[in-house]
Order: sequence, then C-alpha cells, then structure tokens
Amino acid sequence: MERRTLLKALLASPVATRSALAAVFFAKPVLAAPPANMKDIEALQKNWKTFVAAGTAIPAANEPLKLSKDEWRKRLPAESYKVLREEGTERAGTSALNNEKRPGVFVCAGCGLPLFTSEMKFESGTGWPSFFTALPGAFEQKKDFFLIYPRVEYHCARCGGHHGHLFDDGPPPTNQRWCNNGVALKFIPKGA
Ligand SMILES: [Zn+2]
Repeated sequence: MERRTLLKALLASPVATRSALAAVFFAKPVLAAPPANMKDIEALQKNWKTFVAAGTAIPAANEPLKLSKDEWRKRLPAESYKVLREEGTERAGTSALNNEKRPGVFVCAGCGLPLFTSEMKFESGTGWPSFFTALPGAFEQKKDFFLIYPRVEYHCARCGGHHGHLFDDGPPPTNQRWCNNGVALKFIPKGA
C-alpha cells in the first residue's frame, strides 16, 4: 500500500492509533543486513570503490603527503588543523557527520585518502562518527598514554594526520570502534 493511501486509511479508521501513525511517519528505510562474520567484513573492505562517486580523484596511501606546519595551517580550517596536526579532539556531538547516512566514502580531510565507506559506520551513541572497521592500509596505529591507561591512537597512512582512537567495544564481528573526529573527515556522497 502506498504511504499516502495507508495514511488516509489510518486517519479514516476509528481504530487508528498513535503508534500506527508514528510507524507511517517514522518508517526507516530498510538497511542491508549488518555483517555477520569476518568474511562479510572482508567483502565490505573489498567493495569500497563501489562507494566512490564517478570522477573522484583518489590518492593512494603510498604517495605520502608531507607538508610543513605552515603549509598545513594554510590548507586546513583551524578546527581540522587542531585535530589532524596537533592531536586535538573535537567536542562530542558537534560533527554533522554523526548523522550522515548516505552511501559514500569518508576520506581524510588532510589529504583525501579514502578511510571508511558508509557501510562501515554505526551509531555508537558517543557523539563522534564511529566505524566498526576501516579500509585496509588506511591507518597506522600507536599507543598513547594521555589518559593514564593506554589507548590506541590511529593516524592517516598518507599524511600522518591524527584521526581518533580505536577501542574494542564495537559491534560484532570485529568488536572494533574507530572513534573518529568528524573534522578530520570529509564525506563524499556517491550521488545518484
Ligand atoms: Zn591524510
């Protein structure tokens, strides 16, 4: 039944309930099933190019981008510079990318290297864009001790820009939570 027809029927019906109406208004699009095993994860990692909009120039991780501090400062907005080049952290809940749900690819705001696809994103409730896996080779990791206990910091393999921290409380099957600063990312929607 078409949404409008269904709505009319519900409005006309004396038994129409608030929840039935809510179901029409707030119906969510049907999402692809979440990955069930590591084979599904590998498939997600392999098919990332299908999320790239036609005509997008994609740099490779083995073409390093090395700039001076001044060059980075000129190239990046202040808040992106602070995160990417000074390992800052954006305030939780401030990134528009928290609600980004379109198909597409998340690239490094510093150098354009593809890092995640929209299929790898999940709602962590933390206020930072979160992903349960990443593109192979996109990041390098190191341990930091800013908060006394060790955390795994990860940074872009191409430009060295700091992106966020990797935790092990994400959804199965990876149990990974790549907690990424939104200002370190740029989203390129796949388009129509
Ligand atoms: Zn980068």
